[in-house]
Amino acid sequence: MRHVSEADRDGLRATMPELLRVRFGIENVNRPFRCPSPGHDDRTPSARYYANGHTVHCFGCRRTWDVFTLVGEADGIEGFAAQAEAVAGYVGYRLNDGTGERKRRSPKRTVAKPEPFPEPKVAGGPDVSDICDRAWSNLYLHGCEEGRRYLRSRGLDDTDIVRHGLGFCFDPRRIMGQFSIYEPHAVGYLVIPFWSQDFRRADYVMVRTISHGQVRHKEWRPKGVTSPLYKEWMLSAGLPVVYVTEGLIDAMALEKVIGRPVMALGGTSYAGRLAQVLAHTDESLRPRRVVIAMDADTAGRKARDQIAGDLDKIGVKHSDIPAYPEGCKDADDWLMSMRGTEWDWECRPMGTADELHTLWTTRWHDGR
Ligand SMILES: [Zn+2]
Repeated sequence: MRHVSEADRDGLRATMPELLRVRFGIENVNRPFRCPSPGHDDRTPSARYYANGHTVHCFGCRRTWDVFTLVGEADGIEGFAAQAEAVAGYVGYRLNDGTGERKRRSPKRTVAKPEPFPEPKVAGGPDVSDICDRAWSNLYLHGCEEGRRYLRSRGLDDTDIVRHGLGFCFDPRRIMGQFSIYEPHAVGYLVIPFWSQDFRRADYVMVRTISHGQVRHKEWRPKGVTSPLYKEWMLSAGLPVVYVTEGLIDAMALEKVIGRPVMALGGTSYAGRLAQVLAHTDESLRPRRVVIAMDADTAGRKARDQIAGDLDKIGVKHSDIPAYPEGCKDADDWLMSMRGTEWDWECRPMGTADELHTLWTTRWHDGR
């Protein structure tokens, strides 16, 4: 049996996109595709390619393959060496012949330049837009009033529900099976789908616990699914300006106040992904300016500095949001501080974008 060198093993492993194309007819590995396993009669695109490990994972049958196990299963080939040969055959890779004199390959490793912004991990799971639509209509069902009450307590009304495609549910696992939540006091969950720009797809969802008692975690994410940024599409939509907040609710609050596109990191630990996505987005599609709107606390300032430094390296113009007035910590705080004063959010949910923006900018400058 032929010996497969470590270099060949790594080389072959990296041919997954080619293997998917040649053997399985999958042209675009950046989109979900039907599960390649012959044992899984997949009706929807449940599988994804993960460039970081060159693997394929199926969210339906919950299995993961590399090139060897994938060919092994699809073609019924057992044994690593035979699988390696099969992969090499499909993708036209020439294996180093292990016979004859053992010529030691000079250990001349080409030292790759450290990539400052590695390609972001493929994020999200299969499309759950249908069930997110149902979660939206739940908000208006008798017995599910908690969802809208919760949003109203944060200054968000029906206009915002529609604009952001929010929803309500009692069991997040029915939306994404990867949720694993223990909240004994929850009366339900606010559903925040990560919709695509055209609202046709939602491949990630975060939920917020609604409870009158204790809450273990305010926000829950599906386990084992890489999280995209909230409204990540804004980074490749050629927008003149995009605001970025920490929290999802903050993004909605800020967008309501200023009437400009606002996206969210979903936590300061996702600041790195922002730069990764931008670095791998065509220059013409990037926002022309990013306004960094982190919380006014230590973690927020640290994230702000990191993002500003990254954007300088990538060459994206940026500015920092001026301090929120009256000591508000974040955008939602600020929205709530305006409640019942400048505008009555229950009766008149939205001024025109320009009115609000003018109001906001004058408040800023007056306050300084
Ligand atoms: Zn599958």
